[in-house]
Amino acid sequence: MKKILIIDNSLVILNLLKDLFDNRIEYKIYIAKSLKEALSLVNEHKFFASISNIVLTDALNGELLEILEHKKIPTIVLSAKIDQNLISTMNNGKIVDYILKDSMHGINMVYQLIELLAYIEGMEVLIVEDSPFLASKLKNLLECFLLDVHISSNGEKALEVLEKSPNTKLIITDYNMPVMDGFELLKVLKKNESYMDIAVLVLGSEIDQNIRVNFLKHGAADFISKPILEEEFKSKLMNIFTTMKHIEELESFNSLMEENIITSSTDVNGIITYVSSAFTEISGYSKEELIGHSHRIIRHPDMPVSIYKELWTTIKNGERWKGEIKNLRKDGSYYWVSSLIEPKFDRHNNITGYISIRQDITDKKRIYELSIKDALTSLYNRRYFNETADSVITTTIRDDKVFAFLLLDIDNFKKYNDTYGHQEGDNVLIQVSKSLLNTFKRSEDNVFRLGGEEFGVLISAKTREDIISISDLARQDIEDLNIEHKLNLPYEKITASFGVSIITVDNYKKSHKLDYIYKKSDDLLYEAKDSGRNIVKYTNI
Ligand code: GH3
Ligand code: MG
Ligand code: MG
Repeated sequence: MKKILIIDNSLVILNLLKDLFDNRIEYKIYIAKSLKEALSLVNEHKFFASISNIVLTDALNGELLEILEHKKIPTIVLSAKIDQNLISTMNNGKIVDYILKDSMHGINMVYQLIELLAYIEGMEVLIVEDSPFLASKLKNLLECFLLDVHISSNGEKALEVLEKSPNTKLIITDYNMPVMDGFELLKVLKKNESYMDIAVLVLGSEIDQNIRVNFLKHGAADFISKPILEEEFKSKLMNIFTTMKHIEELESFNSLMEENIITSSTDVNGIITYVSSAFTEISGYSKEELIGHSHRIIRHPDMPVSIYKELWTTIKNGERWKGEIKNLRKDGSYYWVSSLIEPKFDRHNNITGYISIRQDITDKKRIYELSIKDALTSLYNRRYFNETADSVITTTIRDDKVFAFLLLDIDNFKKYNDTYGHQEGDNVLIQVSKSLLNTFKRSEDNVFRLGGEEFGVLISAKTREDIISISDLARQDIEDLNIEHKLNLPYEKITASFGVSIITVDNYKKSHKLDYIYKKSDDLLYEAKDSGRNIVKYTNI
């Protein structure tokens, strides 16, 4: 934690400043209202920086700044006005900057300056200057900013220093120097992969604008004319560091996104142009396998085609699409994502491509899948039946197909349990479930275990005859399991009875909701039982 000392005699200013650091746990704030209080605090603590008024009632002649300098505490000076006299008499040594305290902008700047100081603390900086006097003056100035400063007297020596200090972030170089001048040095730096990101601030005695332009064109961050004005130097320095900090923050944000957010971009035709690492990780495909292809490669066969149709209609229309998608991983397993897909536009509002971000919801989906499935047979349970049946009916009717609800029940199952035991009974339930899944294997068929030994099937077909033939096939398939059941006479094997309600577009009424249809099938099932079992009974409703 960095300790910050705030010195002012105005409670208002003290509170404003203190508020700036609220909730910032990386800083601890100390407050002094007089020279006396400040003295005792600086003797007791090691401060990272101080924010200080120049004149206090018990220190009218700038004694405070002398003390802060002596203690080597970088100081941001608060002043009511920028007064030339004050500036020149001010000991420039440890003063980072001065700030107008009666402007809110100034007060907010204080926090940013402290953040910047924390960012550059210990940063390696190289001064390349053949005048030892100027070099040492600049070194002093830079050390107020807590920088770690090296000096070399020409470009060639600078390159030697750089080899030993590869973390150097900023080079302040003179233009005119023996052996290798600043321009040659800049060119060498910008050509070298490991040095090209180092910021270069050039000091030039020429007034010639061409030289300045040439430096900037070759990648210098800024240019300062000699004789150097300290104010200009500090302000340009701060600008360079602020830009550096912003770029670094942006880069680290980008890499955080890249690693953790499942995101991709496509062109207008849906061809992938970018995928994040998080995307490659969850899908199991490499960037090379994805870029240049469409998302089709990760489509899961369980996802109805209608979802993609709806998705494309929405985004081509310039709107955003949100939804849950089951995707196919390269290894054949699946993952669920909650997706948000948005069109990208150019200045003329034309769609230039699409961008999407996704969240992995596989765990949530797995828990949901468990909650809608029966543990013994893995068929959907009654809860899921109640949730989905009505919408299955309406979609089927809308698609102009014949819909049917099959209710079936194993014959004389109580006797089976009594004869062969409950465990064997469970086994029969599993066999019958498998048989049903095998008969109704299309993705739009839904098989449910609705209770004990009672099953439900929601299916659609082109014609009524198709429904009848597949229902009877289901009955036959169960019989063909050939599971011995001596007391189920006359068959002496496991059989089931069916009640089947068939709805066609012609006779469909909105009142034909689940409860009504269920009751119809249930009545038919009783009829089938009464008529000797192992029978399918039908009705058109
Ligand atoms: P019917 O032909 O009229 O349907 O006669 P049934 O004996 O099959 O009908 P009933 O409803 O009288 O008996 C159903 C039996 O199913 C009762 C119960 O022992 C059995 N059962 C229900 N759930 C389970 C289960 O999870 N495992 C096993 N092994 N048996 C079950
Ligand atoms: Mg039964
Ligand atoms: Mg029963």
